[in-house]
Order: sequence, then C-alpha cells, then structure tokens
Amino acid sequence: MKASAQQIEAIAELAMEQFWAFVAESFPEATTGDFPPPENAAFTRAADNAVTIWVHLNVPDKPARALNCPSCKKTTIHTLHQHVERDRCRTIWATCSSCDNDRPITINDITGGDL
Ligand SMILES: [Zn+2]
Repeated sequence: MKASAQQIEAIAELAMEQFWAFVAESFPEATTGDFPPPENAAFTRAADNAVTIWVHLNVPDKPARALNCPSCKKTTIHTLHQHVERDRCRTIWATCSSCDNDRPITINDITGGDL
C-alpha cells in the first residue's frame, strides 16, 4: 500500500488548511472564515479523493521483503522505507506487516547473518 487512509486524510486536511489560509489572505477585508458544514464535508471528501488519486498516480510502490521481526518473532513482509525527515544518512527502515514495529535494517537482515 502506498499510503494509509489515515495518512491520506491527514495530508488532505493539512492541504485544505493551506487552501483556506490562501483564500483568507486573498480577502484581507474578511474578518470571519465561515463555511457551511455540509459543503465542508463535501469539500473534505473531494480533497481525500483527490489526494488518493494523486498518490495512486504519482507515488511509487514501496518495496517489500520478508524479514525476521525481532518484535513479534515471526518472518513477515516488511515495507522498506526511509525517514528523510528523521535521518539524512539514507538508512533503510523496515516496518513489520504483523506488529507495525519500525526499525532500521542491518546487513544481518539482508544476509540472514551469513556473511
Ligand atoms: Zn513484527
């Protein structure tokens, strides 16, 4: 999966905040920011949809690999990814599909310890 529903919703919500901030800045004479709840719900659905479609079309699939999980002690599919915001040293992290444990992978994960 490229992004979870929670991730999509969070990104769409932040993008909508930026959208409304830009609209408000464009009308400095406005002193309120009212918007009716039904229209806001429709806008939220449209934004979630737009982000979902954009992610589907533009975000590459994350690589996955079977690894031994030190947390749940099973061999499970791990999603490989990087935390660019957390470390800039190109460490590859692996998230366990069974218990969600997220850890940096080591050379032992790749070779099974046989190096
Ligand atoms: Zn696990």
